[in-house]
Amino acid sequence: MLRLAIQKSGRLSEDSLALIRECGINFISSSYKLKTEATNFPLEILFLRDDDIPGYVQDGVADLGIVGQNVLVEAGYPELEVEALGFSKCRLSLAVPRADAYASVAALQGKNIATSYPNILGRYLAENGVQSHLHTISGSVEIAPSIGLAEAICDIVSSGSTLLGNGLREVETVFRSEAVLIAQPNLSVEQTELLEQLRFRMQAVRRAKRSKYIVLNAPLASLDEVRRLLPGIKSPTITPLAEAGWVSVQSVVQEDEFWHITSQLKAVGAEGILVLPIEKMIA
Ligand code: ATP
Ligand code: ZN
Repeated sequence: MLRLAIQKSGRLSEDSLALIRECGINFISSSYKLKTEATNFPLEILFLRDDDIPGYVQDGVADLGIVGQNVLVEAGYPELEVEALGFSKCRLSLAVPRADAYASVAALQGKNIATSYPNILGRYLAENGVQSHLHTISGSVEIAPSIGLAEAICDIVSSGSTLLGNGLREVETVFRSEAVLIAQPNLSVEQTELLEQLRFRMQAVRRAKRSKYIVLNAPLASLDEVRRLLPGIKSPTITPLAEAGWVSVQSVVQEDEFWHITSQLKAVGAEGILVLPIEKMIA
C-alpha cells in the first residue's frame, strides 16, 4: 500500500487528480473528504495543503506526494523528487516598482524584499553577492511595496498581470518550477515496486501527451521525402492505397514539431492529413 498526498484545493489539485485517473487508477473523491482509497490499485490518497506535503513525505506520514518544486525546495527537501510531471509550470521572480531604476540584481543591495520564499531567494542573493533584508510574508506579497513594507518583492509569476496591476515590473527570474512526484526515503521493497509501476504509467501518460498520431496519403514519388520528415518511433507504417501510385503513411510526431512538419508534408504533396491524440505511449 502507498499513501499519496496531493493538494486539497488549489492550482495543483485538478491536474494531480487527472494524472492519477489517466494512470488508470480509479477512486471516489468528494470535496469534504480528506482521504480516499483507490479501488483498483493499492493507493490511498490524502488531501492536504501543498505547504505541508514535503514535510509529511520526509517524515513518512505519506509515502508519496505531488507538489511544486518551489514548495519542495523552499522546504529544504529537494532530494525527495523522483519524477518531474510537466504541469503547474511557473517561475519565482523578483519585481520592483515600475518607476524605479534597476540595472542588475546589485540594485537590491541593502534593500527590503518581501517574499514567501526566503530560503530560495536567500540562496539566489548570496550566489549573486547581494545582501538584502528579507521580510517573510505568506500572501499578498505584491502589495508590500505600495504599503511601504519593502522596495522589492519575490513571488510566483505566471502571466505578469498581477504584477502590472500593482505597479510592479519583473526584473529577475530566481527559480523555475513545475509539479513533481516526491517519495519518502524509506519505502519498503514492495512499496518501491509499486512506485516503479506508478512512474511507468506516469511516463507513458506524459509521453502520449507530447505526441500525436499522424495519418496521411502521399504520392509514391515523394515517399522518400515523407519518410525523412516522419521518422516515427521505429519507422513509419506504409500501406498502398487502392489508387495506383499512392500510399497511406502512419507515424508519430512530437507536438512541438507538428505544425512545422505538416506544412513541409503538404509541400511535398501529402493529402488528407489526419492528426489524432494518443492515450498512452509505452516506450
Ligand atoms: P494551499 O492552500 O494548498 O497552501 P496555495 O495557495 O499555497 O495553496 P496555489 O496558489 O494553489 O497554492 O499554488 C500551488 C502551486 O501551484 C504553487 O506552489 C506553484 O507550484 C504552482 N503555481 C502557482 N501559481 C501558478 C500559476 N500561475 N501557474 C501555474 N502554476 C502555478
Ligand atoms: Zn500553499
